[in-house]
Amino acid sequence: MQRWLVSAGLTVALFDENPSAGGQVYRDPVYRDPIDGIGASNNADQQAGDALRCELAASKVTTFFAHPVWAVTGDYRVDATGPNGPLHCTARALIVASGTTERVVPFEGWTTPGVIGLAAATILLKSQGVLPGRSTLVAGCGPLLAAVAAKTIEGGGKVEAIADLAGTSDWARTLPAILTRPDLLRQGFNWWRTISRAGTPRYARHTIVRVEPVEQRLRATLAPCDAAGRPVGGQRATVLVDCIAVGHGLTPATEITRLLRAKHGYSREAGGWIAIADQDGRTSRPLLYVAGDGAGIAGAAAAATHGTLAGLACALDLGASNPSRLKRRIEPARRAHRHAARFGHAMANLMALRPGHVDSIAAETIICRCEDVTRAEIDAACDDGARDVNQLKAWTRCGMGPCQGRTCGDVAGELLMRRVGANSRETVGCFSARTPLRPVTLEALTGDFTYDDIPIPQAAPL
Ligand SMILES: Cc1cc2nc3c(=O)[nH]c(=O)nc-3n(C[C@H](O)[C@H](O)[C@H](O)COP(=O)(O)OP(=O)(O)OC[C@H]3O[C@@H](n4cnc5c(N)ncnc54)[C@H](O)[C@@H]3O)c2cc1C
Repeated sequence: MQRWLVSAGLTVALFDENPSAGGQVYRDPVYRDPIDGIGASNNADQQAGDALRCELAASKVTTFFAHPVWAVTGDYRVDATGPNGPLHCTARALIVASGTTERVVPFEGWTTPGVIGLAAATILLKSQGVLPGRSTLVAGCGPLLAAVAAKTIEGGGKVEAIADLAGTSDWARTLPAILTRPDLLRQGFNWWRTISRAGTPRYARHTIVRVEPVEQRLRATLAPCDAAGRPVGGQRATVLVDCIAVGHGLTPATEITRLLRAKHGYSREAGGWIAIADQDGRTSRPLLYVAGDGAGIAGAAAAATHGTLAGLACALDLGASNPSRLKRRIEPARRAHRHAARFGHAMANLMALRPGHVDSIAAETIICRCEDVTRAEIDAACDDGARDVNQLKAWTRCGMGPCQGRTCGDVAGELLMRRVGANSRETVGCFSARTPLRPVTLEALTGDFTYDDIPIPQAAPL
């Protein structure tokens, strides 16, 4: 993306809360030497990430890593905090490529220590070189199930079981899209070979219904479920582990575009709420663009091609110095994006929120873990007349904690829609985004000072 902006003679600033470039997939490992063989140092994602970081370092882009953006205003002033204090930058145009948040559909005991996100487990494995647990249950849906299980086994951990919400028929439907990516097919095959060699049982079309602590360990109960994710009769299984890595898909991170009041729509297949945009990432607001999974879940390869399109669109809209060269790039970039997105869309579909799964959440289960709001409290607010998620937020504090509803928002909206009998998620709306977008301390904004540093205004003349 930045290549096209810089080549068009524009000045580019890049903000990222991560300490270096690469996002979630091409992240720079903290430990280059793998611990206990976790995360081969020469794997393809790491090499691609290294190439990306070299290209960026050699470019004219001004980078601000380890800078969480906590506010963006309508004139595209971006406020961030960093190791050297707060800073801001005002731009003519803004490209938002903020990625995703992991979704966990709550179940009894999901907030127990030792239960972690499936995608979060990839960070432990890839970046920290740490096993999620010595004995782990891997549960949820999507390609990260096999990725986390295989990496854990390769790192010397034991995966006691894999509980996959999807059934064989769900996976079979993704086959035409998988065949468009022989490289990923091979990778998936290698993961499953590692898993089957370790003798790990896979419970297809099963969901976790309960987790309880048992003498420093966790006992998970797995139940068979239907295609909508609703537990059904049949034999339940229990697994005793010290870690549960569970994830039910990804939701686009839209807090910046929502804060800027761009038009949004709900797409179950794209992972949830997304900014409405044209194929090159132009949103409803002039000179505001979206790219990557934040614009709808489509995977890492498609995020890169989408970034190219947004970069080209932005450069052209700002009056690039070389428009004909950029215009020639658009069609090939669109074709590359359509190809790359096919696989990602199939995976996003597999991980889409399943209505029966949400319906089956028990009344006493916590939905908003920042504010400890249960399903029963959400249902009571709906029965008392809440018809919009922001009413729900004001009445129950659901989504009002430090994560700003990133974790609970999708499930809370689905619960509200179903309880009040609304026919779409648009009817009940989505949480309004609010600053600070990331938790920020007052100290980080004010810096170090003593009382002597505070300017005392002159007293007004009497
Ligand atoms: C925790 C997690 C782990 C994942 N692991 C894998 C994996 O191992 N393999 C895989 O195929 N897919 C993985 N995924 C899915 C993967 O993230 C996407 O398919 C892919 O990374 C999309 O690329 P992107 O550029 O759109 O977003 P990302 O790669 O997520 O990049 C978004 C960037 O925006 C930054 N950002 C967001 N908000 C702010 C803010 N307010 N201030 C500053 N910076 C901000 C983030 O730090 C990040 O670097 C993971 C997803 C998550 C949530």
